[in-house]
Amino acid sequence: MPSVHCPVCGATIPRAAGAPGLACSFCGFQRRPAIEADATASPFWLQRSLADLPQLLRIRPVSEIFVAGVPPQNPARNLKRLGRDYPVKLIPLVDSDKNIDAIWADMCLPFVADLSAFLNRKFHQLTPGGLLYLSLPVKRPLRAAAALPGQINFFRPKNIMFLLEQRGFKMAWRKNRFSSTLRIIARRD
Ligand SMILES: [Zn+2]
Repeated sequence: MPSVHCPVCGATIPRAAGAPGLACSFCGFQRRPAIEADATASPFWLQRSLADLPQLLRIRPVSEIFVAGVPPQNPARNLKRLGRDYPVKLIPLVDSDKNIDAIWADMCLPFVADLSAFLNRKFHQLTPGGLLYLSLPVKRPLRAAAALPGQINFFRPKNIMFLLEQRGFKMAWRKNRFSSTLRIIARRD
């Protein structure tokens, strides 16, 4: 049977040609077909995740935070509005941004087609010691979160740590050990 490599841990997964999705028996990562197309981080999620912003500022007092996955209907103006309660400037992240100190990637990983490319790009956009905020739904025993519209990647708390460490990030903070949403601040080595 043909095989593919797990995009998180690299394990070999047997997979029938043309099969939709994959499930890694080694790290528990799953990729499934999206139930609905073109979903990205919503302003609603972003607003909720910004409650973690003071936590990031305690680790590193930055003046600007670049926000990944900002949908076109939520331009810089809306970021400014969302960020008005915090002592930082929120800026939409674009691929050409470099030498930045903090990236906010709220609910991005569930939708990313190429996880390695996504994290490698963030690594190179950050300065050494720069921070990457991530939030994502995770599968826990007895608490399987329903798939989000457009979601293709399904993580467990353990394999997301592995994914980050393999791409040069170290854990600086994490929250909600028992929640179905994992929130992480990772530091670029
Ligand atoms: Zn795996």
